[in-house]
Amino acid sequence: MKWGNRLNRHSTYEEWLVQFDGLNGIELERNTAMDLERLKSELESWSQTTDETSWPDQGVKLLTKAGCWRNAIPKIHGGYGACSLDRLKLYETVASASLTLALILTQHDGACELISDSDNEALASELLPQFASGKLLTTVGISQLTTSRRGVGPAMQAEADGESFRLSGVMPWVTSAGKAHCIVTGAAIEDGQQILACVPTSTAGFVVKEPMRLMALTDSWTSEVTCEKVLVTREHLLRGPTVKALARRAPAKPLTVSSCGLGAAGSLLAAIQERRGSLPGAGELIDKKIVKRYEAVRDRLYQAAESLNTDAQEIPATEIRLEVNDLVTRLAVSLMALLKGSGYLSSHPTQRLVREAMFFLVWSAPPSVQIGALESMWE
Ligand SMILES: Cc1cc2nc3c(=O)[nH]c(=O)nc-3n(C[C@H](O)[C@H](O)[C@H](O)COP(=O)(O)OP(=O)(O)OC[C@H]3O[C@@H](n4cnc5c(N)ncnc54)[C@H](O)[C@@H]3O)c2cc1C
Repeated sequence: MKWGNRLNRHSTYEEWLVQFDGLNGIELERNTAMDLERLKSELESWSQTTDETSWPDQGVKLLTKAGCWRNAIPKIHGGYGACSLDRLKLYETVASASLTLALILTQHDGACELISDSDNEALASELLPQFASGKLLTTVGISQLTTSRRGVGPAMQAEADGESFRLSGVMPWVTSAGKAHCIVTGAAIEDGQQILACVPTSTAGFVVKEPMRLMALTDSWTSEVTCEKVLVTREHLLRGPTVKALARRAPAKPLTVSSCGLGAAGSLLAAIQERRGSLPGAGELIDKKIVKRYEAVRDRLYQAAESLNTDAQEIPATEIRLEVNDLVTRLAVSLMALLKGSGYLSSHPTQRLVREAMFFLVWSAPPSVQIGALESMWE
């Protein structure tokens, strides 16, 4: 499969923009400092119109128009090369209007990071500009190497085949798989080592299953993907064979889920504020406790984020994740208590936020986050 135009490295950044923006005909804001307030209000008015199963096409176009796909991509490949702090602010903003779009964007950025930080410069130069412009979409299918341990043995295996590898197995969870042009995935080799590869979804033996029906976020088109002896040539290899293919991750990674959680917390808190008059004593509790807890958790996350691009000591990412999980869960329960029976109607617009809140208990949650969430609930 020939991926798009081969690019000469000498074109200027502006030539990049002209070359790619024309492709998808979307007029782009030319400034790199994203207008997050404007993006939030555009996404909020759009998200009022969505159903919970269709692919969020218009929402994706709004992200393209705002230049969101460029954020995690280095400037040399047509991106903004945004710092971790700006990336986390964007995730919070998008998640406060649409958790589905935040999930699609973070998985896309996760794949772009692994490609730009890979040993495969040729592939990065070929693909990243097309991802930056929104012409092509990508995502990751790596939970089989991280937080999903289905049954015994590695879920995805790679067998050497001359200079190449053959992938066989399953990626249990891949968001936007049905819309992605390629998926960054990982597999275990018999000798215990691992590889990371960027596989075009059109490759023979690569099967994207129907999007799963989920408690929420069904419109993220998250699917199981199976591989039957899928060929991975050197051209598609990103890392490995190596002991831990995902040892190196981008600085923003440890706080990515938490920043989306903060966005979800912001929209839950806004819904709670709207009902502050519906229950005697609620207003005082909201001001004295709930808002204070929200602000304290938010301050802690951004204090840690400030130090991400410095050589400060390791940030307390798990602690912050647990605080965000605890905040989102408490806000969801509090909103439900204020909504009463009417909030239990599946037609009620706000009950979706309560269902979405549960996602933070299962998204990229290692045992330390799982047990931490249980302990904080039963302390
Ligand atoms: C909506 C959604 C979108 C996602 N998108 C992506 C994505 O785009 N890319 C990506 O890489 N990941 C993605 N993930 C995966 C996510 O980050 C986690 O990896 C996933 O939620 C882990 O859940 P699991 O059920 O697969 O875990 P598993 O570990 O497979 O657990 C499955 C079940 O087995 C039980 N179990 C597990 N281990 C044991 C054991 N040792 N003994 C007994 N029972 C056990 C568990 O209790 C659980 O009930 C997504 C997940 C969701 C829900």
